[in-house]
Amino acid sequence: MSQPAYKRILLKLSGEALMGDDAYGINREVVAGIVNDVVEVTRIGVEVGIVIGGGNIFRGMAGAASGMDRATADYMGMLATVMNAIALADAFRAAGVNARVQSALRIDQVVEPYIRGKAIRYLEEGRVVIFGAGTGNPFFTTDTAAALRGSEMGADIVLKATKVDGIYTADPKKDPTATRFQRISFDEAISRNLAVMDATAFALCRDQRLPINVFSLFKSGALKRVVMGEDEGTLVYC
Ligand code: UDP
Repeated sequence: MSQPAYKRILLKLSGEALMGDDAYGINREVVAGIVNDVVEVTRIGVEVGIVIGGGNIFRGMAGAASGMDRATADYMGMLATVMNAIALADAFRAAGVNARVQSALRIDQVVEPYIRGKAIRYLEEGRVVIFGAGTGNPFFTTDTAAALRGSEMGADIVLKATKVDGIYTADPKKDPTATRFQRISFDEAISRNLAVMDATAFALCRDQRLPINVFSLFKSGALKRVVMGEDEGTLVYC
């Protein structure tokens, strides 16, 4: 049997990925589906860290737009990601898999704090680690947290799950002639002004020579195909 292309991955899930077609919150069926996909890749020996977003519950930018202090709103956004992390861990529990949540903000009664060495040990033990509260700092995003934790964990790749199955020459919903890039270099993505991740996240991955694969979690078996190194989504390479 062929071997996975990556030993350790950092999967970035947006909060919206947990919503499914709902307008808000966490759809348990959708979450169970994501958990199944992740469990499938852990069974073939891939170590998985997950950074989870919070956009299904609260976004700092939205709070600021309605008049809140931006940093205060961002802390609320980070707390939203912790709720998602807890829900995701619970779905792993229901699937018989022990996942650990680590939070960049201390809420010790609820989840353990982020401790890099401990997180790496969990990964080595084959446990899924879910990183909540983003970077722990306002004015950042969970994309940046994914680049950061991916770098800290020594991940081989950051996998960014989106609704679209990769990076296209134009928005495929608006332009039927748009084609998907199978691979694209960081430099070309920059020169073409492609929005792969936010700029801070993208710069960190490029500096750390940490490749990114943008793919759709809603395509059946996509995560497994990505980790097997098959043509799925778009690979951004150095
Ligand atoms: N956030 C933050 N610092 C971080 C990560 C997240 O302040 O390091 C806040 C920010 O307000 C953001 C919210 O948490 O809007 C939810 O994260 P994000 O928007 O990245 O979630 P996603 O879009 O992936 O669901």
